[in-house]
Amino acid sequence: MAHSVDTGAIEIADERLRPVAAGATPLERLCTGARWSEGPVWLSEDDSVLWSDIPNDRMLRWSERDGMSVWRDRVEFTNGHTRDRDGSLLHCSHGLRAVYRTQPDGSGQRIVVDRWQGKRFNAPNDIVVKSDGTIWFTDPPYGLIIPEEGHGGESEIGDCLVFRFDPHTGSIDPVTDLPIEPNGLAFSPDESILYVSDTSAALGREATGNHCIFAFDVKDGRTLANGRKFADVSPGVPDGFRVDTRGFVYTSAQDGVHIFHPDGTRLGRIPVPEKVGNVTFGGAGGDVLYITASTSLYRIRLATRGV
Ligand code: MG
Repeated sequence: MAHSVDTGAIEIADERLRPVAAGATPLERLCTGARWSEGPVWLSEDDSVLWSDIPNDRMLRWSERDGMSVWRDRVEFTNGHTRDRDGSLLHCSHGLRAVYRTQPDGSGQRIVVDRWQGKRFNAPNDIVVKSDGTIWFTDPPYGLIIPEEGHGGESEIGDCLVFRFDPHTGSIDPVTDLPIEPNGLAFSPDESILYVSDTSAALGREATGNHCIFAFDVKDGRTLANGRKFADVSPGVPDGFRVDTRGFVYTSAQDGVHIFHPDGTRLGRIPVPEKVGNVTFGGAGGDVLYITASTSLYRIRLATRGV
C-alpha cells in the first residue's frame, strides 16, 4: 500500500512557489513494478489513474481501493493518454504509429488518425484536447529508434512534427517543426499559449540535442506563432508536463518535478527518488499531482489545482 517517501521538502527557488508548497503532503510511492512509466491520466468516475508501462507493452491502473493492476495488455506500446470531450480515452501508440480511442473500460478500440498526406506518423507520444475539441499531439521518433518501445521502422514523414487534428472535419495539419524531437505538450489555462518540449538531448545526446520547453502563441485557436524557448530543464529532459490554474508548469526531470512560472523563472522542485517521465493532476479536488517515475507511481497533494 501507499507509503510516504522521505525525499525532503519541496525545494523553493522563488517565493512565488511558497503558497503551492504550503501544506503539501509528503510524497508517496503508491505502487511499483513497471519498467518505464509514462502518460498518466486521471479517471474521476472511479478515482483511478491509468498509465503506460511502455517496454512491457501494457497499461496499468491504480486506485486507493484496488491498488495496482494491469488494465490492458498488448496495447501497441501506448505512451501518452488524455480524456476526450465525450469521456472516451485517447491513446498515443508507438506500435500502431497512430492515435487511437477506447472507451474508459478499454472496449471499442478504433483508430482516430494514423497518417498525414498519406505518410504514417513516427510514434505519437503525448496528447492534449483543446476546449474546441481539436486533438493536438507530438510525433517524435522514439517508438522507431528504441527497440523495446515499438516495432521499429523508418520515418515516412522524414521530420518530427506537432499535429492538430480536427475530428469535425477530419483535417490533420502540422503546427510546428521548431522542436527537433517534440515530446510533452500542454496549453496555458486560457489556451493562448501552447508549451511543447524538445527532448532531443535524451539517449546520450546531451551535447547536440535540446532539453527545453518551447512556448508558442496560439493564433485564432488553431495556428502557432512566435515560437521561443521557455525554459531549459536539467538534469534530464522535460518528457511530460502539466499546467495548474496559476499557469505554473510542472515538468518531469531526472531528479524530480521542476516547476516554472509562466514568465520562465524556475520556481522550485519536488524531489522524486526515480527519474520522472510525466505527471497529471487528479483527485477529487484536482489538487493531487500523480507522477510516473521509472518503475513507480507517486503522488503529492499541493495547494493548487490542475487545469
Ligand atoms: Mg513523452
